[in-house]
Amino acid sequence: MLSDFYPSSVFKFCPFCGAKEFVWDGVKSHTCGACRHKLYTNESAATVALIVNAQGELLFVRRKYNPAKGMLDLPGGFVDLGETAERAIIREVKEELNLEVSKLQFFGSFPNRYLFGELVYFTLDLVFTCTVPDLSPLRAADDAEACLFIAPQEVNIGEIGLESIREIAKSYMARANNEEKGDGL
Ligand SMILES: [Zn+2]
Repeated sequence: MLSDFYPSSVFKFCPFCGAKEFVWDGVKSHTCGACRHKLYTNESAATVALIVNAQGELLFVRRKYNPAKGMLDLPGGFVDLGETAERAIIREVKEELNLEVSKLQFFGSFPNRYLFGELVYFTLDLVFTCTVPDLSPLRAADDAEACLFIAPQEVNIGEIGLESIREIAKSYMARANNEEKGDGL
């Protein structure tokens, strides 16, 4: 079960004094019974890029590594220490796809759970619509094995590996449908 890998199950000792009495409050923090330090479990910031070509198709990548190796994903990644979300998404798009972003628009935020090295990281995926004036340098690199454009009506949600990315794709498709019907947004 995924919850077996939550910090609440995995963290057994106080990281400050090493005491064994390190108690989860059932919500969001551990407290050390010896030194009284509190350690909070929060969402880590991550970014996701929505990049659309002239035909209105959305750019997906195929994941090279676990979790969800081989499944569809959207480009993006964790925000580094001291980095803004805007800088992070521009960097990730360059690293993974070799593309230059000229403009960003915030789309929304989506919580995710990400199992890595037997620990679940709770992330908050910050999604940006990215304008890329030139798609010709596109190539898959870094943790993307391949990239492919898919029309919104042809996206198979079951092929998407991560829960937040499924929710983002659904939300994107709903907005694309509304725009097609002229509802705008
Ligand atoms: Zn302690």
